[in-house]
Amino acid sequence: MSFDAPLGHGERLAGLLQSARDERLAHALLFTGPAGIGKFMTMRRLAIGLLCERGPGDPCLACGSCKRVLSGNHPDLFEVDAPAAGQDQITVHFIAHRPPEKKKPGDYKGPAIEDFLVLRAREGGYRVVLVREAERMNESAQNAFLKMLEEPTARTIIALESSRPGTLLPTVRSRVVTIELGPLSLADTRAVLHEQGVPAAEAEELARWSGGAPGSALALRGHGAPAMRAILSEVLAGTLDAGSAASRVWDVDGRFQGKTPAAGARLRVRVFLDLGLAVLGDLLRASAGVPDASLAHGDLARSLPPDSGAPLERCMAQWLAARQDVPLNMSPEALLDRALLALGALGAAQVAAR
Ligand SMILES: [Zn+2]
Repeated sequence: MSFDAPLGHGERLAGLLQSARDERLAHALLFTGPAGIGKFMTMRRLAIGLLCERGPGDPCLACGSCKRVLSGNHPDLFEVDAPAAGQDQITVHFIAHRPPEKKKPGDYKGPAIEDFLVLRAREGGYRVVLVREAERMNESAQNAFLKMLEEPTARTIIALESSRPGTLLPTVRSRVVTIELGPLSLADTRAVLHEQGVPAAEAEELARWSGGAPGSALALRGHGAPAMRAILSEVLAGTLDAGSAASRVWDVDGRFQGKTPAAGARLRVRVFLDLGLAVLGDLLRASAGVPDASLAHGDLARSLPPDSGAPLERCMAQWLAARQDVPLNMSPEALLDRALLALGALGAAQVAAR
């Protein structure tokens, strides 16, 4: 478990720990902000700071309590993480106690938040519940959760994390204090990536492409984004035809394992189309006069011929349509070919305009 101080959010964290020392920390918190910026890491750091024997405050990382958190078995810390438990959704089984005989095969079988909350704090201090990707809570889970928020237990902190808080019921959102975190600076993002062993030149690019979200940068890296962007760049420059580009996309080395080979193929095409949309969006911004240097993919805009707005928009429309079709049961190969043909036409037009 990583409990490093999350770069860029230190001040907010210090403020929350100060509130705890002043006995005025809200009992229900919702951490929001873009994906991959370290929201959950900040929540874990808050948890260890609350549970530290010398706390609440900056955790010492040396006391018995800190060590138990670090080894992942502190009795007063409970984490809900649906994907880690092999579930797509946070169902009511994660929230409320249900007798085992009422559960169907495939249901989450582990302890629920309610099971955890009926216990007294084993170490006499705070008890902390962390919910990762709270947007995965279905409606019955949210309603069960609401009951918990209505009957707070003393010295119990429940913290939710979500980059899509709009999907939570308004009744849930109105009972939590929202802590909004923003992207990291590029320097902080590079520092996190460097710590994770990413070589400097790659860290530089990934920090820019991810817009200051180290978690997203690492996901992009795992999905072979540098190789994918090189393909996009060559097609745009008119030096790679759509067919050869498609076969290169299928050869990109990365983590594209799905539950089935088709799901893996869809994931690969989704990642490629998302990256292409980010590139095309930046090219459109550049053609509308936004300075290249302020754009994640601004370097690709330098070779844009003048008046490329309309062809860019046509290409963008094709990519958006292909991207929307990914979750449908369409062949990912066909969607990739369709998008690359549109991009290839754009590249050819650029060559002709030079
Ligand atoms: Zn400690």
